[in-house]
Amino acid sequence: MTPPRTAIVTGSTSGIGLAVARALAAQGYRLVFNGFGDPTAINALVADTTARHGVEAIYHPADMSKPTEVRDLVATTEQQFGGVDVLVNNAGVQHTAPIEEFPDEKWDALLAVNLSAAFHAIKAALPGMRARNYGRVVNIASVHGLVGSVHKAAYVAAKHGLVGLTRVAALETADADITVNAICPGWVRTPLVERQIEDLARRSGVGVEEAADRLLGEKQPKRRFVRPEDVAAMVVFLCGDAGTAMTGEVLTLDGGWTAR
Ligand code: NAD
Repeated sequence: MTPPRTAIVTGSTSGIGLAVARALAAQGYRLVFNGFGDPTAINALVADTTARHGVEAIYHPADMSKPTEVRDLVATTEQQFGGVDVLVNNAGVQHTAPIEEFPDEKWDALLAVNLSAAFHAIKAALPGMRARNYGRVVNIASVHGLVGSVHKAAYVAAKHGLVGLTRVAALETADADITVNAICPGWVRTPLVERQIEDLARRSGVGVEEAADRLLGEKQPKRRFVRPEDVAAMVVFLCGDAGTAMTGEVLTLDGGWTAR
């Protein structure tokens, strides 16, 4: 019997990453969780995944802004489970400010997590993927990997960079059974976006739900949030048989944002 495949999902203690991790566990993947959060809640998450889906799951606390910790995440997974089959680069942060006021350290921190972490993780995982001639890399970019928005210089630059990294990694691995793709969601109502909704509500003097609707109305014609589960389903698709021929793809899931 072939052993189950192993997936690392960075930033899987919350939001989209958590939905992706759960969806992969439901497919029988062994899971390596990562991300910040309350240790008790994280332990419960890992235990729940094992109990619910009958798969092995561990947690690795790598701070994805630190290359040595990223490398340790990959090395630990290889030691524990014999390899990394699926790598989902999802950890991400946001900071909004006009360029003239954008703190240098926020720029550096944001690029480290949203872009450089994916480079270091892919670089660390590829030798093992090549040796086993199998790998599925999914980079959670954003609609901001394709278009800009004001006050998001670092985020937009990082996500455009992540789309570029996806294409290069896909070309460089095209000779093996390795695929590298990017998913570009529009607004997904996670803690990362909730903070932006609350900011808008405060600035505009309206309620949180009114602010959420304004946020959608400005960018996302469907006027409903993309669900974390929608993104997770796309990851599952890319990692399944039907995704075998797809590499270097940049898949939008944006409720019509980029259709205008
Ligand atoms: P979230 O805040 O709910 O989750 C972010 C996750 O990343 C958390 O688990 C957090 O602990 C982890 N994280 C943050 N910094 C980290 C670090 N230094 N090291 C390790 N883990 C770290 O946000 P989300 O909306 O689920 O975002 C997930 C990804 O999806 C991000 O890359 C984000 O840019 C992208 N995205 C989100 C949206 C959206 O509307 N929410 C849209 C497009 C793309």
